[in-house]
Amino acid sequence: MDNSGKSPQLIDRFGRKVDYLRISITDRCDFRCVYCMSEEMTFLPREQVLSLEEIYTLAKAFAELGVKKIRITGGEPLVRRGALELLENIGQIENLNELVLTTNGSQLEHMALALKKAGIKRINISLDTLDADKFKAITRTGNLQQVLRGIDAANDAGFERIKINAVILKDKNHQEVVDLVQFAVDKAIDISFIEEMPLGMVSQHDRSAAYYSSDCIKADLASHFSLLASTEKTGGPSVYYKVQGSQTRVGFISPHSANFCSSCNRVRLTVEGRLLLCLGNEHSVDLKQVIRANPGDMDILKQTIVDAMQIKPEKHEFNIHEQPVILRHMSVTGG
Ligand code: SAM
Ligand code: SF4
Repeated sequence: MDNSGKSPQLIDRFGRKVDYLRISITDRCDFRCVYCMSEEMTFLPREQVLSLEEIYTLAKAFAELGVKKIRITGGEPLVRRGALELLENIGQIENLNELVLTTNGSQLEHMALALKKAGIKRINISLDTLDADKFKAITRTGNLQQVLRGIDAANDAGFERIKINAVILKDKNHQEVVDLVQFAVDKAIDISFIEEMPLGMVSQHDRSAAYYSSDCIKADLASHFSLLASTEKTGGPSVYYKVQGSQTRVGFISPHSANFCSSCNRVRLTVEGRLLLCLGNEHSVDLKQVIRANPGDMDILKQTIVDAMQIKPEKHEFNIHEQPVILRHMSVTGG
């Protein structure tokens, strides 16, 4: 390891500094969103999944290498037993500025306050529609009212920021973009629209036909809201606009129509302990193997992470009109 006394940093071949880690803490979920999973899913056996202790050790190693922000995601992170304690422990890691969470909202009604106390500052909640039947059609097993109660509980708990994530699908929910922004304005929270990405094989859903670009969404919003371009960044791939006359920011995550790779500062840790250098490529390093072969050896672990930066690809290779090249589902990868 570098003992030069300088703070360690993770830098890739293209000079990009990596200071943001997303961790998928489970591939399991209580929903089966059509763009994310097939109706019948086989989940990973327990021994293939990182233990909570292993996840904590990895989070600590990354923080010691200059990572400032960690997002906990999944699958549905809040269905993993022990998730709250894990979050509490990661929240206390030195030098980590921000611990954030992405959730489908199903557990927030009873967990929001405890999450706030655990040190979570910002929370992203997925909500693609305000129509109960469409919600059922998209999530297959979800209950809209439960999620709406969860959003209210999160608002009451007093997080610094709450953001809705909505994947927009043509002819499924694209007609609702105005209503979704109005919902965010009424609740004084933010919202990001996400273009669907071709990750993993999904059944009963045609990704090419469902593609709806960020530009189309912006055009739909233009007649109802004044969107003011904002230079604000939250460390992720969203490009933000402020809704005039409100506290709400509208973000667009546009992997297809506006490639964001040149400013990529992120890597992902899959639930199997694979360090994934890019969401849209398979370049990865098996950190579970390193941690299990060298228990307690932080130096080897950190050196492996530093070396891994050399294989971070320049950009993703998504093509929504072809069969997915990336066979892992977003739930394994951590969205
Ligand atoms: N279960 C949690 C949730 O739904 O928020 C966290 C994990 S989920 C994989 C994280 C985010 O990825 C969600 O906002 C979801 O809508 C998004 N997502 C899942 N599959 C996607 C896909 N194929 N393309 C784009 N976004 C996707
Ligand atoms: Fe579950 Fe989130 Fe995937 Fe929906 S998007 S199936 S809630 S992991």
